[in-house]
Amino acid sequence: MLRTAVLAAARSPLVRRVVESGPFDPLVGRFVAGTRDDDAVAAVRRLATDRYITVDHLGEDTTDRAQADGIVAAYLRLLVRLADEGLAHRTEVSVKLSALGQRLPVDADKIALDAARQVCAAAGAAGTTVTVDMEDHTTTDRTLQTVRDLRVDFPWTGAVLQSQLRRTEADCRDLSGPGSRVRLCKGAYDEPASVAFRTAHEVDRSFVRCLRVLMEGRGLPMVATHDPRLVEIARVLAARNDRGPADWELQMLYGVRPRAQTELAAEGLRMRVYLPYGTEWFGYFMRRLGERPANLAFFARALLTR
Ligand code: FAD
Repeated sequence: MLRTAVLAAARSPLVRRVVESGPFDPLVGRFVAGTRDDDAVAAVRRLATDRYITVDHLGEDTTDRAQADGIVAAYLRLLVRLADEGLAHRTEVSVKLSALGQRLPVDADKIALDAARQVCAAAGAAGTTVTVDMEDHTTTDRTLQTVRDLRVDFPWTGAVLQSQLRRTEADCRDLSGPGSRVRLCKGAYDEPASVAFRTAHEVDRSFVRCLRVLMEGRGLPMVATHDPRLVEIARVLAARNDRGPADWELQMLYGVRPRAQTELAAEGLRMRVYLPYGTEWFGYFMRRLGERPANLAFFARALLTR
C-alpha cells in the first residue's frame, strides 16, 4: 500500500514541483549521479575501474517536442564525450521512450522511434549500445515494437522485460534468439492484478521462470536485480548453460548494494551499473523510495530537518 502511495505521488506534478525545486539533496545523490554531463562522466570514470555502466539521461513523460529534442541532444553530447574520453567500451546508454516522445498527442510512436534511432546511431558511432527501458504495462507492446524496429538497423538494441507482468515469460521466449539482449527486472511500476503478479513471491517465481528461458536461449541475458537469492540462481543457471562471464551480465542500480557490486565484479562476474543523471530526477527517485520503506523514512527525516 505504501508503495502504491509513493508511486502515485511520483506521478503528481504538484509533488514533483515542490520536491524538485529544492537543492540537489545528498539523499537524492545516493541514487542519482548529479545533474550535469560532468557529474555523469566523473561517476562513469570512477565505476569503470571494475564495472560496466549504462547511463540514463533522466526524463520521462515528455509533453512537448522541444523537450524530447533536448533529451536526444543530451544523449548525443554524452556519447561523444564517452568516446572522446575512452569510456565508451565500458559504457552503454539506457533510454526511456516516454522521454523521447512516446506520450505526445500526435505521431508519438514515430517521433519516439526517430529519436531513439538518432541515439542508436550516435551509440554505434561511439562503439557502444543502447537498451530501451520498459515503463508501465500500457506501453509494453509499443515499446517492444519500437525495439524490433530499431533492431533492423541496430541489431544490438537491448529490451527490458519485467517479471511482475504475466505476459513476460512468453515475451522472454520471443526475445531469446541469437543476438538479442534482454534485461530482466522485477518491474518498478504499480500494475493491476489483471496484468501483473501482485505478491513478491509470485514476482520472484516468475523471475526464475523467465531467467531459465533467457539463460537457455541464444541471446545475452542481463539480470537486473539486487536480490541475493536471484543473483545466486542466475549464477547457477549460467553455469548450467555453459555461459562464461562474457555470455551474461548482472546489473544493479547506482547507489544500491554498492559493496555487493564490487564483490561480484571482483569474483570475475560482469557487473553493470545503471547510472542516472540529469535535472529530472523526481520520478526515478520516487520509484527508488517506493522499493524500500527504509528509504522513505530516511527521506522523511531529511525533509523534516531541512
Ligand atoms: P527487491 O526485492 O525490490 O530488492 C531486493 C533487495 O535489494 C532489497 O531487500 C534491498 O536490500 C535491495 N534494494 C532493492 N531496491 C532498493 C532501493 N531502491 N534502495 C535500497 N535497497 C534496495 N524497472 C522497470 O520497470 N523498468 C526498467 O527499465 C528497469 N530497469 C532497471 C535496470 C536495472 C539495472 C535495475 C537494477 C533495475 C531496473 N528496474 C527497472 C527496477 C526493477 O524493476 C526493480 O524495481 C528494482 O530493481 C528492485 O527490485 P530487485 O530485483 O532489486 O528486488
